[in-house]
Amino acid sequence: MQSSYDVIIVGGGVIGCSIAYHLAKMKKKVVVLEKDRIGSKASSAAAGMLGVQAELEEDGPMFRLGRASRDLYPALAEELRFLTGVDIALIRSGAMKPAYTKEDMEKYERIARWQKAIGETAEVLDGKAARRVEPALSEKAIGTLYFPEEGQVSPPSLVWAFSQGAARYGTEIREFTSVTDMVCKNGRFDHVETDSGAVYGDSVVVAAGAWSKRFFNKKYGADIYPVKGEVLSATTAAPLLKTTIFADGYYVTPKKGGILYIGATMAPHDYSRTVSIDGLHFLFEKAKRFVPSVTKASIKHIWAGQRPMTNDGLPFLGMDPECDGLYYATGHYRNGILLGPITGLAMAELITGRHGDEALLKPFSLDRLARIKEVKS
Ligand SMILES: Cc1cc2nc3c(=O)[nH]c(=O)nc-3n(C[C@H](O)[C@H](O)[C@H](O)COP(=O)(O)OP(=O)(O)OC[C@H]3O[C@@H](n4cnc5c(N)ncnc54)[C@H](O)[C@@H]3O)c2cc1C
Repeated sequence: MQSSYDVIIVGGGVIGCSIAYHLAKMKKKVVVLEKDRIGSKASSAAAGMLGVQAELEEDGPMFRLGRASRDLYPALAEELRFLTGVDIALIRSGAMKPAYTKEDMEKYERIARWQKAIGETAEVLDGKAARRVEPALSEKAIGTLYFPEEGQVSPPSLVWAFSQGAARYGTEIREFTSVTDMVCKNGRFDHVETDSGAVYGDSVVVAAGAWSKRFFNKKYGADIYPVKGEVLSATTAAPLLKTTIFADGYYVTPKKGGILYIGATMAPHDYSRTVSIDGLHFLFEKAKRFVPSVTKASIKHIWAGQRPMTNDGLPFLGMDPECDGLYYATGHYRNGILLGPITGLAMAELITGRHGDEALLKPFSLDRLARIKEVKS
């Protein structure tokens, strides 16, 4: 007899594993189908910044989702450590955005104003005060926008903890199982086809990151495409930084053991995982502008990964309008580590019909696909 699941998850990155973890905690019978190894794609390539304030420069649905997710982290870190023994390395080491011009300073004043108005801690510092916090910051920085409470985690540990936690609650994890088709019958999800046979379930969640596009109904015109990012890590004899330095999407961020991550390039529609000399050169130039003494660091590793990007830059979180039981949780672009916890919790609530914060998910529902299509045609 065919075994059947309450929920099938396609993709074992941070998003798939977080949804599996939260569903399994709610006593659902879950299977994760992962074509490679758990966490082997974007979720392990990430730097792990929980950059609500530094990354998201406007108030809106993404900022609110990010904030809700960030706020879940402290309790979640404890819960996962207790359940699995895995330390996700959550630290609140702060982040700063260096300003090089008067215009930068004005922009940062504006950001600090609206963030403070909604209860966030955001300080605009002049150059001297900024270098008191972070002595290695470039002398060319005339000031900074400083977020003392921004945090970070270790992405590979986070994915591993979610998958191990889900397994503890009974989730089956099937690695090296590629989903090849999604079958709906009479407006309802029926089963998925894989390279090792059909898998049946009441519901399915597409959480296949930058590879999700093939599972969208083509008539919606929804797009998910990769934006490749190259990163390098480096070590210094003594720790160089305490806080993350971040501007225009580029960063130098300190990790455990005196290691720095320097990232990341952005190349749309590129599925390759190689790291180019051009890419490294570009990152060195960015890093030097933030922290000139970074040139003394020794290179440790280089790697690349694919961020899942959508037509309008927002993730798709919700059910297919024409196939009951077929859900999407994908397109988290630069913020999947930040958004992993809230995505897992909110999707599990949606699938099990629990009343969560529905307004939080609404802007990311698939209803907007029709609007995207209208704009395109
Ligand atoms: C260089 C870089 C730096 C980043 N830094 C940060 C950061 O500091 N903070 C932050 O919040 N975010 C960051 N991100 C973004 C974050 O990594 C992503 O948004 C997040 O990992 C996406 O998670 P995911 O589970 O959707 O995708 P993935 O981790 O890519 O997982 C999708 C999984 O689906 C599997 N899959 C695909 N197709 C199939 C199939 N047909 N059948 C079965 N399985 C399949 C894949 O093998 C993969 O394991 C960064 C990303 C990159 C690339």
